[in-house]
Amino acid sequence: MPAVSHVGVVGAGFAGAAAAILLAEGGVEVDLFDAKPEVSALGSGITIQGNACRILDQLGVWEQVQENSYPFDILGLRAPDPEGSVIAVIPDAKMGGEDYPATIGMYRPDLAAILVERAEKAGVRLHWGAKVDSLRQDETGVDLEWIEGATRRTGRFDLVIGADGLHSAVRELIGIDARPQQNGMGIWRAFVPRPEQVTHTDLVYGGPCYIAGYCPTGPDRMYAYLVEEAQDRTVLSPEEQLATMRTLAAGYHGPWDEVRASLGADSRINYTWFTRHLIDGPWNRGRVVVIGDAAHSCPPTMAQGAAMSLEDAVVLAEILLASEGLDSSVWAEFQDRRLPRLREVVDASSQLADWLIAHERDADVPGLMRRVAMTVSQPA
Ligand SMILES: Cc1cc2nc3c(=O)[nH]c(=O)nc-3n(C[C@H](O)[C@H](O)[C@H](O)COP(=O)(O)OP(=O)(O)OC[C@H]3O[C@@H](n4cnc5c(N)ncnc54)[C@H](O)[C@@H]3O)c2cc1C
Repeated sequence: MPAVSHVGVVGAGFAGAAAAILLAEGGVEVDLFDAKPEVSALGSGITIQGNACRILDQLGVWEQVQENSYPFDILGLRAPDPEGSVIAVIPDAKMGGEDYPATIGMYRPDLAAILVERAEKAGVRLHWGAKVDSLRQDETGVDLEWIEGATRRTGRFDLVIGADGLHSAVRELIGIDARPQQNGMGIWRAFVPRPEQVTHTDLVYGGPCYIAGYCPTGPDRMYAYLVEEAQDRTVLSPEEQLATMRTLAAGYHGPWDEVRASLGADSRINYTWFTRHLIDGPWNRGRVVVIGDAAHSCPPTMAQGAAMSLEDAVVLAEILLASEGLDSSVWAEFQDRRLPRLREVVDASSQLADWLIAHERDADVPGLMRRVAMTVSQPA
C-alpha cells in the first residue's frame, strides 16, 4: 500500500502533470487542479535536455514527444559580427544517456497537452478553471478549497502537492517565505519559421544583448530569443514590442537576418524576467509539499528548469509509492535526494548569468557546464 491513497495536485504544468501520472499509475486516486480554463494552446518554445527526455520516456509519452519535437546533439557558438561567424560547434552532453538526444526543441503547449492527455488516460481527474486559494490540515488529511467558475468547492486529501509555479499560492498558504528574486535579466522570445540552415541551437554571447539564441522545435518552426538587461517592458504596445525585438535583433547576423525579417504580428512575442530562488530546507509543511518552480527557479542558462521539475515529481512519486506511511522519513529522503542537486543547478545557472552580466571574460564556463552535466546525467 502506498503512503497515500488520495492526492490533490495543484498546477497542471510539467511538475504537477508528471506527479499526477506517476501516482495514478501507482494506484493512487488523484485530482489535478489548474486555474487556467484549459490546457494552453498559445506559448513559446522550450529547450529540453536529455535528462528530461529520459523522464518523458518513463512517463510513457516519449513517442509522442519525438513526433512533435526537433532533436539535436550539437551546440553552435557564433560571433556578434556582421557575418554571424561560427566560432565553434561543440558536441552537447547526452545527459539522458545514449538512448536519447542531447537536446530537443519543442513547442511548449504541445508538451503540456501531451502530458495532460496522458494524465487523463492514467485516470487522473482534471479540474480546469479551478483556482486553489485556501487549505487547512490536521493529523489525518488536508482540506483544500478552490473556486471553480463562481462556485467555491472543497475536497479532502491525504496529501496536497503544490506544483503551482513561480508565484505558488500553496507555498504561501503553508507559510514558506522563499520567493523568486529577479536576477537582472529579461528575455524576448518569438516563435518564427525555421531558416533551413538552423538545425541546432546557436548562441551568440555579446552584441546588443547578453545572449542571442534560437532553438528549432519542428521541421518548419523554431523559437528565437534575446536576453537583455531587465527593463519594464510591460508599458510597450504589441507594435512597440515587435519594433524593440527587431532593433535588438539587428545586432546579429547569419540566420538572424532571416529571423529578423520574419518577425511579425503573428510571432507571439513575449517578454519575461529571469528569477532565482530555492527553498533551502524542507519543501513540505505536514501533509502539503511544493515541487517544481514553486520550490525553485533559475535563469534558464542551462535549460534545466523542466528537467528539475519533472525529476521532483519522479522522486516524490517513487518515495510515496514505496512508503507505508506519510512520516518524517518520507520528507527526509525527499529532501536528501532533491536539495543538493537543486542547489548545484540553481547556483550554476545563476553563476553563468552573473558572469554574463559582469562581462567576465576568464570565467570557466565549460568547466561549470561539465560539472553540472555530470551531476544531472545520474538519474535523480
Ligand atoms: C523565460 C523562461 C524560459 C525558460 N526556458 C526553459 C527552457 O528552455 N528549458 C527548461 O527546461 N526550462 C525553461 N524554463 C523553466 C521552465 O519553464 C520551468 O522550470 C517549468 O515550466 C516549471 O514547471 P512547473 O510545472 O513547476 O510550473 P508551471 O509550468 O508554471 O505550472 C504551474 C501551473 O500551476 C497553475 N496554477 C498557478 N496557481 C494556481 C492556483 N492557485 N490554483 C490552481 N492552479 C494554479 C498554473 O496555471 C500553471 O499551469 C524557462 C523559464 C523562463 C521564465
